[in-house]
Amino acid sequence: MAQPCIITVALCGSVPRKEHNPGVPISVAEQVESAHEAFEAGATLAHIHARNPDQTPSSDPAFFAAVQEGLQKHCPGMIIQFSTGGRGRAMEERGSMLHHRPDMASLATGSVNFPSIVYANPPELIDHLAAEMLKYQVKPEIEIFDLHMLYNAGKLVERGLLKPPVHVQFVFGIKNALPAERRILDFYLSELPRVLPGATWTAAGIGKAQIEVNRWCLALGGHCRTGLEDNIRLDAETLAPQMPRWSSARRIYAGNMGGGPRR
Ligand code: ZN
Repeated sequence: MAQPCIITVALCGSVPRKEHNPGVPISVAEQVESAHEAFEAGATLAHIHARNPDQTPSSDPAFFAAVQEGLQKHCPGMIIQFSTGGRGRAMEERGSMLHHRPDMASLATGSVNFPSIVYANPPELIDHLAAEMLKYQVKPEIEIFDLHMLYNAGKLVERGLLKPPVHVQFVFGIKNALPAERRILDFYLSELPRVLPGATWTAAGIGKAQIEVNRWCLALGGHCRTGLEDNIRLDAETLAPQMPRWSSARRIYAGNMGGGPRR
């Protein structure tokens, strides 16, 4: 039997705001509702960022806990993943919600340039977040924005800060970081079994790369990621629907894909 594909929904991230797409879920209630819509449509992993009422990024543990509680109630069995990354958060607060023991949390294993900032993940922060995830039995998703981050994850395993089998996410299409090129993913996958034996993987395409990267994942046996964190549009002319009704989204999506969506 083929391995099932786990679809992650990255609800809002830390950048898109309602003025970019009115459907971006900001409040706890909006995030739970949006995750539930995605859950009904086939997503089984929710990637969570906290926001303040003014839409700026937040590290408030109470916000994360409230979304977690809502998802446990309304989306039974959905995997809950907190982000320890994102822009606009104080470094020392990025792991401050891990004591709520989500199923998973993101862990970037190196620094990289983003469109207008350095996304800083210094070695001591990586070690601290990895140790906290071990302490609270939270499974990390290793966020790989550039090649060195794969090998850094291997070193965390060697040092006992990361337990195999590791789950990784390769991120493509962020301006100033790696372009969305299939041959880069091919190289990652050729190295993955040697560096992180037994690892599972997914990939995320940012902006217009989103659907293409998902196609590669499906063809190569990986998992998938969707959501407004990565892309607020269905295509160049169409914003993702404000209230995502699966039937209308499916019509547009099917037109883009040349076929029906994977459920
Ligand atoms: Zn995120």
